[in-house]
Amino acid sequence: MKLSEIDATLREIRVSPVKTLGQNFLHDSNLARWIVEKAALSPDDYVVEIGPGLGALTEFALDSGARVLAIEKDQRLADFLRKRFASERFEIIHADALNYDVRRLFAKPRAKVLGNLPYYISSQLLLKFTKYPSPISLWLFMLQKEMARRISASPGTSDYGALTLIMQLHYRVEYLRTVPASVFLPRPDVDSAFVRIAPRTPGELPDHDAETFFRMVRRGFSQRRKQLRNLLKEEALDWEKVSSEVRFDPRARAEELSLPQWIALSNFARSDVAAAEIATAEERFPVVNEEDHVIGDAPRSEVHGNNLRHRAVHMLVFNHLGELFLQKRSRWKDRHPGLWDSSAAGHVDAGEEYDVAASRELREELGVAANLTRVAKLTASEKTGQEFIWLYRAAHDGPFQMPKSEIEHGEFFPTEIVSGWVEARPSDFAPGFLECWQAFTASS
Ligand code: SAM
Repeated sequence: MKLSEIDATLREIRVSPVKTLGQNFLHDSNLARWIVEKAALSPDDYVVEIGPGLGALTEFALDSGARVLAIEKDQRLADFLRKRFASERFEIIHADALNYDVRRLFAKPRAKVLGNLPYYISSQLLLKFTKYPSPISLWLFMLQKEMARRISASPGTSDYGALTLIMQLHYRVEYLRTVPASVFLPRPDVDSAFVRIAPRTPGELPDHDAETFFRMVRRGFSQRRKQLRNLLKEEALDWEKVSSEVRFDPRARAEELSLPQWIALSNFARSDVAAAEIATAEERFPVVNEEDHVIGDAPRSEVHGNNLRHRAVHMLVFNHLGELFLQKRSRWKDRHPGLWDSSAAGHVDAGEEYDVAASRELREELGVAANLTRVAKLTASEKTGQEFIWLYRAAHDGPFQMPKSEIEHGEFFPTEIVSGWVEARPSDFAPGFLECWQAFTASS
């Protein structure tokens, strides 16, 4: 929309821009087209647009053939857009985008998020919509220039800080261009910038523990002018050894370390690695025949390497809302790394009964005890990885204590989202879970 059209439309629908809602409307159509082109949209995409306003970006997003869900807090603008874009590919909801349930996007095959964000809540929106792990494959945001520079900054610059590293641990952030205040009506007080954010590919960065990383980064940047060695004293690291192995000046300040160096540094403060290595080295599993009778036992590597039939348990834990807790397997696990899986799952050990293994796994993986009810037994097959699986259900609201070396993340999801997600993106899940979910839905 041109400036004159925006002016006329606002008069026609009797809207004067509300400053407290961050209403600054883009009146440069070429720029709007250019922005949407950066999303490389196609009819396979499901676009969520935050704060569509009068539809400056929406128009081009719809032109691509994609489906668009627009979330607008101002009722008058939502009503206007409903009339302006009467397409079955367009849905507008009159709501606060901060209340949108991002989990719903797991049930969409490919979700992208677009927005010329209202600046009064842009950092909250940014953090909410990029919460990791995310169902979103691309974000295109117009932000205040200062914030765009911070999240895309390089080491050694004054913009480089904790927010940079927190964003860049999971995402690649590109500062695409500065946008002058003059392309908006009314003109905002500051310049803007347009950024593209994309998830990192699995394995792009070395093994790390996000929690330890965030803790160290926050501490390290708490006083920019102080040397890191003083700010990280509580971590009790052998600073000479760490700085020489990670190759930085022992007197360095936080902003001098790159992302890989921060990861390497935080890995020196991890406590979970050694324990995990010891645990996997000792496992022995029972080997069973096609009737699930034990015929011997063998070490884990032999059982998996030779495709021997063995036993496993899967637990589906529901909270009081009936939502299912799913775990995301660690990206550095040997089997099905990074995939989503049952609330808890594991092998039955040599000499152990299924029910005992189920309680043990629940305790080891989630740190809780709960009554377990048998749901179904799955026969060993290629799909289950030659595992006979007893599937259990349990009720628990958490919180859970999860071993980081095994589980990267866990979260409750409404069951209808899980069903939609399984259908839309089956490759997000460990194969054993897909079998269990099918058995569970068939039994309920
Ligand atoms: N996308 C339009 C454009 O580029 O011209 C408008 C951008 S304007 C900077 C921000 C828009 O976000 C406004 O339409 C405003 O009403 C809307 N908005 C403000 N707060 C919101 C919220 N919490 N949730 C959804 N939309 C919001």
